[in-house]
Amino acid sequence: ITILGIESSCDDTSAAVIQNGVMLSNVTANQDVHKAYGGVVPELASRAHQQNIIPVVDAALNRAGIKREDLSAVAFTRGPGLMGSLLVGTSFAKGFSQSLNIPLVDVNHLQGHVLAHFIQEKDTPFNPPKFPFLCLLVSGGNSQIVLVKSHFEMEVIGQTIDDAAGEAFDKCAKVMGLPYPGGPVIDRLAKEGDPKAFTLNKPSIEGYNYSFSGLKTSFLYMIRDELKKNPNFLEERKNDLCAVLQSTVVDILMQKLRKAAKELRINEVAVAGGVSANSALRNAFVEHGEKYGWNVYIPKFSFTTDNAAMIAITGYYKFQKGEYCDIALPPFAKAVIG
Ligand code: ATP
Ligand code: FE
Repeated sequence: ITILGIESSCDDTSAAVIQNGVMLSNVTANQDVHKAYGGVVPELASRAHQQNIIPVVDAALNRAGIKREDLSAVAFTRGPGLMGSLLVGTSFAKGFSQSLNIPLVDVNHLQGHVLAHFIQEKDTPFNPPKFPFLCLLVSGGNSQIVLVKSHFEMEVIGQTIDDAAGEAFDKCAKVMGLPYPGGPVIDRLAKEGDPKAFTLNKPSIEGYNYSFSGLKTSFLYMIRDELKKNPNFLEERKNDLCAVLQSTVVDILMQKLRKAAKELRINEVAVAGGVSANSALRNAFVEHGEKYGWNVYIPKFSFTTDNAAMIAITGYYKFQKGEYCDIALPPFAKAVIG
């Protein structure tokens, strides 16, 4: 079984080939056009996808050493994401599968992030999480705790009631005048800062839910107040601010995850999504593994942010169940997992 995966939900155009569960290629074109605007501009993203999609698919097939005729199915991200971006990948996948007369498989982007843990790589040990496991899914648009019962049964047991964790990083970075996306920049600067230099209020939200909009506001007010006393505050303390913000976000994320793991008695715990690239969060997972006896699963960097390998692996499982997509199905912008 050879699956071509296509991802175009936001600002990365990606294509990947997975054969019998093993990744043969994973090619991504990032879009630099958005940097000047401090965020993704949907119309520009859509146009860049149009320019990138054919070369990216070509490169993925070439690197995999696969001809179009060898493909068993085309899997694509149907949503959630930006409608204009999704339309490019969806239209391409539909046309490509029709011209080859092979099945089309639609994939939920969030399910893809979780199933990134099932991507096998050549000559690399394969040790996926065992069901049922908990997955902390933290990305630019989502922050949720998912109870994963099988490749297909996923239950969101907690989620953010406002901003996502990645969004909190990006918005706070903007407050500090850092470039977009701010998450990776904060991660880098935080390495030189003191996470205990200040304290930020943590939200108290019920159950396994999260909230990050209050944190963003208190971060903004703290900087505004300090700037009144010292106009150079931001320049002088940028690294400390990054370290404090990062450690507060990680604490908030881990606190609810500990609660869920304890109450549900699950010690298989994974992390996924763009924010799982964060070094402090990755360290927190390793520490929790040691302290609480969890088996922790931390994805390889290239599988944290958006990539088509996670779409291809999800498509691979759906294809085996015969879950194909009707050509008439349109993409969707908003949806939950599963
Ligand atoms: P979704 O998957 O919810 O639709 P998305 O696809 O836009 O959203 P991802 O590509 O999974 O999101 O993740 C992007 C987010 O990850 C951005 O908010 C970015 O700042 C954040 N991010 C990436 N690397 C790091 C890092 N090292 N530290 C913190 N945040 C990071
Ligand atoms: Fe994503």
